[in-house]
Amino acid sequence: MFDELTEKLESTFARLRGKGTLTEADIKEGLREVRRVLLEADVNFQLTREFLERVEGAAVGVAQLRGVNPAQQLVKIVYDELTKMLGERREGLKLSTIPPSVVMMVGLQGSGKTTTAGKLARKLKAEGRQVRLVAADVYRPAAIDQLETVGQQIGVPVYANRTTNDVVRIAREGIEEAKRGRDRLVIVDTAGRLQIDADMMAELKRLKEAVRPDEILFVADGMTGQEAVRIAQGFDEALGVTGVVLTKMDGDARGGAALSIYGVTKKPIKFIGVGEKLDALEDFHPDRMAGRILQQGDVLTLVEKAQSAFDEEEAKRLEKKVRKDGMDLNDFLVAMKQMQKLGPMKDLLKLLPGVNASMLKQANLDPKRMKHVEAIVLSMTNAERTRPELMNGSRRLRVAKGSGRPVQEVNRLLEQFREMQKMMKKMTQGGGGGGGRMPQL
Ligand code: GDP
Repeated sequence: MFDELTEKLESTFARLRGKGTLTEADIKEGLREVRRVLLEADVNFQLTREFLERVEGAAVGVAQLRGVNPAQQLVKIVYDELTKMLGERREGLKLSTIPPSVVMMVGLQGSGKTTTAGKLARKLKAEGRQVRLVAADVYRPAAIDQLETVGQQIGVPVYANRTTNDVVRIAREGIEEAKRGRDRLVIVDTAGRLQIDADMMAELKRLKEAVRPDEILFVADGMTGQEAVRIAQGFDEALGVTGVVLTKMDGDARGGAALSIYGVTKKPIKFIGVGEKLDALEDFHPDRMAGRILQQGDVLTLVEKAQSAFDEEEAKRLEKKVRKDGMDLNDFLVAMKQMQKLGPMKDLLKLLPGVNASMLKQANLDPKRMKHVEAIVLSMTNAERTRPELMNGSRRLRVAKGSGRPVQEVNRLLEQFREMQKMMKKMTQGGGGGGGRMPQL
């Protein structure tokens, strides 16, 4: 996400950090570069100017600071202002207490509306709500099928009525059905066009009047930069949207949409889509996103990902055992399998503070390595896995042969495992660290 933006900002700050003390001129030069980087990322011109004015105002005196690394101080100022630009604080869905609440998804065709409706339904269902999807996109016949397929995949009922083109009627019927089914939440997928057009807006307005939604979520393709902002304005003026979802943020979105949409429309980004799969939706947190952009890491999102992917029972069992008896290679294998469920290591590492693109390039992140490690561990006997200290030279050779990996790799794995054991010991004895977000500002 925003790789280019992040990389360029990082190199700007790296240059400043390298200087130790900063003159006013250094800061001015640095901020000029930040300006260029933001504009290249397609951030709104006016917002960029205001942003820099605020940063510059706050940075007065940074040059004279002693004791604190002035460049780091400047990063902190930029971090605070970026957070404000992205929306200041997390805004979740605001749903009525009287069921069913209604969420209406709007946006242009291809923005990811239907997919996002499904992702949202899945997420809310996982939070314990009874959800129903309503297919009110009648112009693209495949849209109804698509929503029904999504519904089946996530186990959420879909209301559709192929006998009519009257979307108001469909939505009303869907809500009635939800009431009968005692659903708490209805998500209405609406029709989009390739461009904003008057007919579409008129229809959405009628739909809004009829279903009185708690939320109107505008879904925008995050790759489209300023274009997404302009369309958001159009939808907001006509309908009054309550929140934004930016999709396709897993691709090489430059950042312009994310950094401008709140500033221009004052409508909060509530979620971001980070992949085509139905679990690829993240809550949007302005501060965490600013942290990611500035490579301060986003440990909270990492922890949340871990919590949702891990089998809780298994994790608890593992933790208990490791605390009591220490870790052996069987546990290591279980932990590794759970890690694999989190997705590519490269994406996870990016959430850690200070990990940048060039480090990722250097790190050996070949996904095959996981398979190799697994093969090595599986070639050991159970006794060897529980007591890796048994692994003498001839056993190492045997395992190398059995797994088809060079003996050096077996050695390296055992060495790494020993280091990890040492670290685990320290952690379990020390009562665990603080955790949480840790922008080292
Ligand atoms: P709609 O016309 O607005 O309903 O758009 P769709 O939901 O059909 O999505 C259009 C395309 O974008 C589909 O191929 C989706 O798989 C893809 N898509 C949607 N959200 C994301 C996302 O967050 N990341 C990626 N990579 N693709 C997405």
